[in-house]
Amino acid sequence: MSTSRNSSRLAKRIRRQTSLTQSTASRLAKQVHTYLGPPVADSPEPDQRRLEAHIAHVLASRFQDRQLNGALLGVQEARPVSGYLELTLESAMADEVLRELLPRFDEPFGGIRGVPGLRFLPADRGVVLHDALSQAHITVRRADGRAWNLPAARDGETPLWNRTRSGLSQDEREEARWWSESHPSLLDVRMRDLVMSRILRRPALVNRAAEPHGFANCYTHHSGDLVIEWCCGDTVEAFCGALLAHGFIDGLPPSDAIELTSPQSARLAGHTVILRRHTSCLYGHEPFSPRRITGYIREGYVS
Ligand SMILES: [Zn+2]
Repeated sequence: MSTSRNSSRLAKRIRRQTSLTQSTASRLAKQVHTYLGPPVADSPEPDQRRLEAHIAHVLASRFQDRQLNGALLGVQEARPVSGYLELTLESAMADEVLRELLPRFDEPFGGIRGVPGLRFLPADRGVVLHDALSQAHITVRRADGRAWNLPAARDGETPLWNRTRSGLSQDEREEARWWSESHPSLLDVRMRDLVMSRILRRPALVNRAAEPHGFANCYTHHSGDLVIEWCCGDTVEAFCGALLAHGFIDGLPPSDAIELTSPQSARLAGHTVILRRHTSCLYGHEPFSPRRITGYIREGYVS
């Protein structure tokens, strides 16, 4: 997006796709300095988008601020394969990604962790994670190509990932149904599934938040949102500009597409994706230097 002509074209598109003013659309467009090429296309299948959205949501909820090498959800690359999706996972986080996604009943928590109905099959150099109730699936591979440490149940956990489709527990079915249904906190389930699957399909953009320090923060309040929070690097407007330049709000109602709520925060797709940037660096001094924090995070994956 290096020329003023490209910037002007993008500004017009942002203006058309949002309720932002022309001057705000131009300002966002001018902050886009990188064009990564066409984004990974959306899946045409609602079940696939639903599964990918749930995966993004679980990873954001569980990893929060524990990333390595700038992989916000543990994902380094995304590639479509025949309408489905293949992810390359950050090497040190890969086993934990698999573990967090596979469903198990957590006794102390009193409910199911992971993605209900998700099952796995070893595949060539990877693992296929498939939905027991539909054709939806993704393939995950490790960036380092090493063998996986397949998860085992921990204290207080009952694994559900090894059950057959007919063996889905009632809890698991209800949890899967709950994700698919509307809630007062959700503007639109289909929109949530679409934009959260886009989060999973755009790691090169999403990971910009974690680039300066190697980690950032992500979390959720409920099934209908995903928050990305960071301190250094892109401003919120620059981050939004990059997302908008790469199709993040394509097809959304303009009134819901984006709201710049302050210089430090924005909401996309209603309240579905929330961006927050701190006004100053959180990791500028010991004992919270990025090097030391990264050391703590790495220890957590080794143990
Ligand atoms: Zn910082």
